Amino acid sequence: MREVTLVGGGLSGALLALMLARRGVKVTVYERRADQRADQIEEGRSINLALSARGIHALQIVGLNAEVLSHAIPMRGRYIHPVNGACSLIPYGRTPDEVIHSVGRRGLNAQLLDALAREKNATVHFQHRCTGYNLRTRTLALHDEESGREFTVESPVVIGTDGAASAVRDALMHSMRMNYSQEYLEHGYKELTIPPSHDGAFRIEPFALHIWPRGGYMMIALPNLDRSFTCTLFLPHSEFGQLATREAASGFFQKAFPDAVPLLTELEGEFFRNPTGGLVTVRCSPWHLDGRALLLGDAAHAIVPFFGQGMNCAFEDCEVLLSLFDQYGGNWDEVFPRFFEVRKPNTDAIAQLALDNFVEMRDTSGDPHFALKRQLEHKLEERFPGKFASKYAMVSFRRVPYLESLERGRVQDRVLMDVCSRASTLAEIDVDAVFARLRAAT
Ligand SMILES: Cc1cc2nc3c(=O)[nH]c(=O)nc-3n(C[C@H](O)[C@H](O)[C@H](O)COP(=O)(O)OP(=O)(O)OC[C@H]3O[C@@H](n4cnc5c(N)ncnc54)[C@H](O)[C@@H]3O)c2cc1C
Repeated sequence: MREVTLVGGGLSGALLALMLARRGVKVTVYERRADQRADQIEEGRSINLALSARGIHALQIVGLNAEVLSHAIPMRGRYIHPVNGACSLIPYGRTPDEVIHSVGRRGLNAQLLDALAREKNATVHFQHRCTGYNLRTRTLALHDEESGREFTVESPVVIGTDGAASAVRDALMHSMRMNYSQEYLEHGYKELTIPPSHDGAFRIEPFALHIWPRGGYMMIALPNLDRSFTCTLFLPHSEFGQLATREAASGFFQKAFPDAVPLLTELEGEFFRNPTGGLVTVRCSPWHLDGRALLLGDAAHAIVPFFGQGMNCAFEDCEVLLSLFDQYGGNWDEVFPRFFEVRKPNTDAIAQLALDNFVEMRDTSGDPHFALKRQLEHKLEERFPGKFASKYAMVSFRRVPYLESLERGRVQDRVLMDVCSRASTLAEIDVDAVFARLRAAT
């Protein structure tokens, strides 16, 4: 029987373990945290995430898509909150099924772990932190967080699914020629809550991703099943530093997000209690050492969250690895290098798309030309079905490879923004001529 050890039982680790266990592989997972299904302590990470086509497709392979979606809230578009004036919804898609879904991180991880617990080939050891991997002896060093015991286990094949600060990546980096970079944004993030109203209702439109675009910074909010919203404020670290007193923080919110202040009923406490997280892009290569060790998900390619794709991309990684496993009869010596070759250009592309989308979300999504561009994209999709898909649709609804989405999307952005900056309504635009221009440019 084939065996593999996974370090990290988070989103990608739990899904990959499930996929491989169902292929008859004996899977052992070491997860640093306690079993989240019993432990109620919330970590300082985003508690909800946008799930879209790639993630849903990967979940479908293990038959969990319907169950996960039954606990999700569809978001139809960006609901823009200007400083002054009326709010507006900019739809993500053209048809009712072109939506993204707000899912709880903890609940999703629990659903995957529950399914994994039913597989007889899989074992998960919680509260076991990996502290190193010896590539020569092929042994994993572990720390039992409960007892404090340090020990090693033989693990001939290891996959690091241990997230952006991967211990497996650290171990590989010190034992092979791995290129590595981490690039922090000048912005950090802080999570805040809009609780449900006194009668238990959503306080703002539930079926949307709310954005307060403010030029150099922004706040967003995603709905939760308990009818609260998780807001995330993205602000330069230097500016977070200036909001050190209650007066400064409250003055900032009153000025920047006046309509949100009455909704953020726990603002004062949360702002000073909740941590400020960093936003990093991690790039490394290669992700594997022949058939012995591999990195997958954030461990291989952490990205900033502005396209809502980190988890979706990690789930797509699992799907691609599984299909290569099938293609090469489970021969890791073939599977790992091929996986790296196939995925690296695409994960580099989504890293760039995510960085670009930050600029779009915070600077331009409040701009009327941006709303017009969305209308034009939907018109082009309607007029030229199968021939035109917007960048957002390629990434979030159609599963077009990320690299192709990046290349085609760049051309679209250039041409469509040029057209929209010269018009104020869709009626003024010759849609056929725009399509011809796009064709000529690609
Ligand atoms: C603010 C924010 C918002 C986001 N929003 C979205 C979104 O809307 N949509 C989306 O698709 N993505 C989003 N992401 C990205 C998403 O969270 C990640 O891409 C995703 O969690 C990656 O999954 P993973 O399994 O690779 O890593 P993780 O989910 O980080 O899981 C890693 C696991 O490994 C464990 N671990 C770590 N170190 C060790 C060790 N030494 N030993 C053993 N176990 C270890 C951890 O406890 C964890 O369980 C967001 C990220 C952030 C920060």
